[in-house]
Formats: sequence, structure tokens, C-alpha cells
Amino acid sequence: MNLCDIKTVKRIMAEFGTGTKKSFGQNFLINADIPYNIAEESYSYHRLRHPDLDSGVIEIGPGIGSLTYELGQRYKSVVAIEIDKTLIPILDKTLGELDNIKIINDDFLKLDTVKLIDDNFGNIPVSVCANLPYYITTPIIMKLLEESRDGDRNRLTSITVMVQKEVASRLCASEKDKDYGAITASINYYGTVTKLFDVAPDNFLPPPKVTSSVVRIELYEKPKYSVKDEKTLFDVISGAFIQRRKTMLNSLSSHISYISKERIGEIITELGFDIAIRGERLSIEDFCRLADKIYDEKIKESKI
Ligand code: SAM
Repeated sequence: MNLCDIKTVKRIMAEFGTGTKKSFGQNFLINADIPYNIAEESYSYHRLRHPDLDSGVIEIGPGIGSLTYELGQRYKSVVAIEIDKTLIPILDKTLGELDNIKIINDDFLKLDTVKLIDDNFGNIPVSVCANLPYYITTPIIMKLLEESRDGDRNRLTSITVMVQKEVASRLCASEKDKDYGAITASINYYGTVTKLFDVAPDNFLPPPKVTSSVVRIELYEKPKYSVKDEKTLFDVISGAFIQRRKTMLNSLSSHISYISKERIGEIITELGFDIAIRGERLSIEDFCRLADKIYDEKIKESKI
């Protein structure tokens, strides 16, 4: 069965008395080349990193199973999490014959990522591959990045996802670009991002209003940057961009209440930055240095 044939998609949905739901960000792929290419991009990177090891993959939002099928052809084991319970009997029908695929009916945002990995994959390398629901792209990516660490080891090899093109530009931006923001700096802490290809709206049912892009986040196996306190780092990154049009000093001091604005200004200049610098000029290394100084100050304050 061609799960990307538009007539087949409509027929299956009608047979099971369901339709695509905007509230769950459902835009199903109707061009078989796209899930094929996304799965290839995900798996080829796994092969590059771990040529001799079997591996598993997590998919968020299998829909009626077109990408899931392609992942099942490559990975040893696939776990797909689908929030929409009306799609579960459809997935049983479309993928039922593949015994390396497990479907879980749940909200991915409510799951414990490390437990999901441990329970389903044991010790083998794991990747994530998905055509993400656009209404929750950033929370899903941040959750994956933050929760995939087990001590000093990252349990995920890569995250290959389709997102809106404008989100892809933010994920891939470098400092000084207008699209560089909190999510860019945060991702740079965990790995590197590559944009792979664009996908036009007419490849989906229903067509979304915008072009989409597939990106791959290649994760560092061990942390590349050392910081005294990760929580402070992410606090500083989000604080630096909370008021984008303001200087970093103004934006940061409205967010960080435990240090005076004057002291934050001193720290910025002690690190060799212009007092009027904006968040988008700082690389992840710069943010780590800034976060360490702010953390030292926080500790000093708590001892007074
Ligand atoms: N993979 C399919 C494809 O490419 O045709 C469907 C992709 S569609 C853009 C997004 C999918 O994510 C939908 O099946 C939707 O029901 C599911 N979804 C939405 N929110 C979710 C959540 N919080 N947890 C798990 N799945 C979710």
C-alpha cells in the first residue's frame, strides 16, 4: 500500500471515520519521495557515526505511518508516539505486519525521554526522526535536547526533523544573523545543525500555508562546552533574548533578579564586550563564559 497516495490516505481516513485534525498539527505527506529521503538522511548519519552498531529510532507523530514505514525498513527498532487515538487502529492496519515497530498512544511532551529510551532500546544508539507537528516544534526539540542526557553521555545520536522553513532558519542561524535567537544558542550547546532540503506545501494533505524544511541536529556524544551550572546558562540565554530590541544588559537585567543591573553591566565589560552589545552577537562559548560569571555572583549573593 502506498501510504503517500492521496486517494489511499483519504480512503483510509474515511474507512476509519476520521479526518486530519488541525488541533494536532496534522499535515500528512502525500509524496513518497519525502519520507524516503528523510529516513535516508537520518539513517545514513547513524551509519556514519556507528558503522558497526544496530540502532533504534523514535518518531514523534507517525500519522498514518508513511515515514514510520521507511524508518522500519532501516532501523532495527522503531518506537512511534502518536497523540491522536483515532489513528492507532489505522497504524495497526498500515504497519501491523512490521514487527520492529511499536506504536505508543501518548502525548510526547508528557513522556520521560530517558525512560522511553531505556525501556525500549536498552543500550543501542538512538536517533529521532519526525515530521513534527508545527504548533509544538520548539518545546519538542528543547525537551529532546534537555532530557536525552544520561550523566555526561548523550543518549541520542541525531534529531532529523521537518519544521517550518522560518523555524529552520532560526535553528541554523549563526551569531550576527537576524534569525539567531535563544533556541539557536541553546542547540549550539548540544550539537550542530544542518539544513538538508525544503519541502513545498503541495506535498502535504492538507497543504500548510508555509514551506517546510528538513534539518538534522547532530548531537555531541559528550558535552563540548563546560559550564558551572547549566540552569544558569539557559536562564542567561533566554534572558538575553527576552527583549530582542534592547541591549543584552537591559534584557538580561529585567529577567535576572538576583544580581543588580549595575553588576551585570560590570560583568559584561569584564568579559570584554561592549556595554551596548545585543544577545545575537554572542556565540555559545560567550554565553558559557557569561553564565559562569553570573553563577559565581549568584553563589556570592547567597552566602551574604
Ligand atoms: N508523520 C506523518 C507524516 O509525515 O505524514 C504525520 C506528521 S503530522 C505533521 C504531525 C503528527 O504528530 C500528527 O500525526 C499528530 O497527530 C501528531 N502529534 C501532534 N501532537 C503530538 C504530541 N504532543 N505527541 C505525539 N504526537 C503528536
